[in-house]
Amino acid sequence: MDQLSIIVPCYNEEQTVELFYTEVEKMVQYMPDIQTDYLFVDDGSTDRTLEKVKELHVRDKRVKYISFSRNFGKEAAMYAGLEHASGDYVVIMDADLQDPPSLLPEMLRIVREEHFDSVATRRVTRKGEPPIRSFCARQFYHIMNKISDVELMDGARDYRFMKRKYVNAVLSLKESNRFSKGIFGWVGFKTKWLEFENQERAAGETKWSFWKLVQYSLQGIVSFSETPLYIASILGGGMCGVALLAIIFIIVRQLLFGGSAFGWPSMACIVILIGGIQLLSVGILGLYFSKMYLEIKHRPIYIEKEICVDDMYGNENEKSTNINVNL
Ligand code: UDP
Ligand code: MG
Repeated sequence: MDQLSIIVPCYNEEQTVELFYTEVEKMVQYMPDIQTDYLFVDDGSTDRTLEKVKELHVRDKRVKYISFSRNFGKEAAMYAGLEHASGDYVVIMDADLQDPPSLLPEMLRIVREEHFDSVATRRVTRKGEPPIRSFCARQFYHIMNKISDVELMDGARDYRFMKRKYVNAVLSLKESNRFSKGIFGWVGFKTKWLEFENQERAAGETKWSFWKLVQYSLQGIVSFSETPLYIASILGGGMCGVALLAIIFIIVRQLLFGGSAFGWPSMACIVILIGGIQLLSVGILGLYFSKMYLEIKHRPIYIEKEICVDDMYGNENEKSTNINVNL
């Protein structure tokens, strides 16, 4: 019988873990011809998330978990989940029930019968979200699609149902600055998109501050586009051209009409403008350099503190003393 692994990244989700499990179990009943297991990834929660997951594990041996030594972020949690999931099919779901479990049977049907390699989801509304956040998110997708090669869907969720070969392709990208929304598109394969209305969080609150989202979008741009570097170079080249013309103009004017020291306020403006452009360009370069710096250090994407997963032979594998470092 085929196996489906459900990966659930959790950061301070003590209020939703149980709720999530109950809701998903209801849908699992509609998929009798597949074996399901859960892989909760506790991303360094400071509340009782891990205890809640362990309670589930005691009740239901299909519930497995990985616990990080600190908060490494959702990207790291998803990567760890994909790495340890053993299913023929894998699905990533948020713990807060914003990814409707009711889509699961349909997703399974699509990959089986319509021969898609993955089924992705996007929300078509952003109901219940602050308007400024929706606006910025829309602008981000708009800009990103203009300047990068990968196509990003506005409102795309990380809720995605994947076949094993798709998972292996995603895992083959080992970069430590991960931007999954880009990686999912980059690996290719046939993907079907399902749409749904935005769901409110079941309990607890969002872990993404506005600032964290800004950093995440910058990461997305730096990971999947070189356009900012080109813009900096073109801007620099353009300014040099303008400055050269201005110098020629000044020399000719000096030779023809004599007199000097006029127009220095405009000169000051130009100096400031060029200084600004230089700083901007150095800043853009710096962004890429900092990512490169982190990348070549080959730091692990996450460090696990406790783990209870199936090994490749389907045997349960639990350890908490040996710190297992993923490289
Ligand atoms: N999450 C995580 N690590 C983090 C932040 C979030 O594993 O550092 C998990 C979180 O527990 C949830 C999912 O990622 O299951 C989505 O987070 P959240 O609901 O806070 O984001 P939003 O839906 O508001 O974008
Ligand atoms: Mg959420």
